[in-house]
Amino acid sequence: NPTVAIVGRPNVGKSTIFNRIAGERISIVEDTPGVTRDRIYTHSEWLGHNFNLIDTGGIQIGDEPFLEEIRDQAELAIDEADVIVFLVSAREGVSDADEVVAKILYKADKPVILAVNKVDNPELRQDIYDFYSLGFGEPFPISGSHGLGLGDLLDEIISKFPEDQANEEDDAIRFSLIGRPNVGKSSLVNAILGEHRVIVSDIAGTTRDAIDTRFTDGDDEFVMVDTAGMRKKGKIYENTERYSVMRAMKAIDNSNVVLVVLNAEEGIREQDKRIAGYAHEAGRGIIIVVNKWDTLKKDNHSLSNFEQAIRQEFAYLSYAPIIFVSAVTKQRLSQLPELIKKVDHNHRRRIQSSALNDVLMDAIAVNPTPSENGKRLRVYYGTQVSTEPPTFVIFVNDPDLMHFSYERFLENKIREAFDFEGTPVHLIERRRK
Ligand code: GDP
Repeated sequence: NPTVAIVGRPNVGKSTIFNRIAGERISIVEDTPGVTRDRIYTHSEWLGHNFNLIDTGGIQIGDEPFLEEIRDQAELAIDEADVIVFLVSAREGVSDADEVVAKILYKADKPVILAVNKVDNPELRQDIYDFYSLGFGEPFPISGSHGLGLGDLLDEIISKFPEDQANEEDDAIRFSLIGRPNVGKSSLVNAILGEHRVIVSDIAGTTRDAIDTRFTDGDDEFVMVDTAGMRKKGKIYENTERYSVMRAMKAIDNSNVVLVVLNAEEGIREQDKRIAGYAHEAGRGIIIVVNKWDTLKKDNHSLSNFEQAIRQEFAYLSYAPIIFVSAVTKQRLSQLPELIKKVDHNHRRRIQSSALNDVLMDAIAVNPTPSENGKRLRVYYGTQVSTEPPTFVIFVNDPDLMHFSYERFLENKIREAFDFEGTPVHLIERRRK
């Protein structure tokens, strides 16, 4: 999906506009414990066009001087976005800080749309003409607090999206490596690519190709998502938790399978859990990769101890396989493509209704459905409604009677019967009419 970034000096209303465009969309996926919802990155949709939205103002680079901070945020937008919304404020007029942002955005070879916020009533429309001086053409008057002008702005944004480069015929498996800084993502990227034949694309200059790397493993084709961004180093790109989270979310979005990379040397940190939580919530196939396995002095228990710690700390990822590797010694790296392929396969798996219902009925026979106030849950039948991740609708007499533990039991029975290793499985209860 294309990425839209909102840039501008503080107080022009970036977060308000961000929230307006993001809407009040509430995640349908249950909240994952330990995952704080970051409000600097979101998905949105306008007239059937899906896109990602970044509020660069939410990315605090550190204790930088004011202008330096604004400059870094604008640079970041240039790097990350396909379309940039340059936000200014009608209340305050053109400020020095606006000009600092403008100067950086001149360098962008991406579309920049100038939006003037806080145009809360028609009289203020006069004031927007001053902003022509910034050199980005016609300003779009909007009001974040009143929700005015956003439709026109969104029309303009989607009209600037790059032509869709996605190849419908492409059956390459897209995967990404995510993890906090220093776990060894770049080293793994290089080690994996070093062992494979990298395919150089003949479609020059597309944004996609710039960040993704395609390679073959036997007859299988893989696309490693966002490798360029991973190699990019610098103060914004490292050491900024919110930035690495945003980066991870973008990579997750563009992948079928996500490798959550941990560092064996340092063990499991809070940030690891947050990052893994995003992949889980996004419903992608997941593999837990423990890197730097070469650094541990091993005894007979070290592997199972580490595995146990992971299962405990990442309880919601019980479906994800764990692999212990080293980018340095290349230990087990050759097993990765096969594992990614398997998880991708499971993530796309489709189960026939007859087979599914055999499993459900057997499950109910061994463990009767729960009841409440004398009313028993009745399960009529189930059907798979989608893949990636596999999603099942279970028709019942009353969805309120389905307990979390019973749903978990049914999910486990489905997992025992079919191979869903590496993929979340969603169950949705519906009242049968
Ligand atoms: P990134 O920030 O996640 O991309 O991490 P890097 O790939 O830059 O690696 C961080 C540091 O860990 C570098 O000094 C690497 O040389 C080192 N490193 C990466 N993988 C391994 C590994 O498997 N074993 C050891 N011993 N060091 C590693």
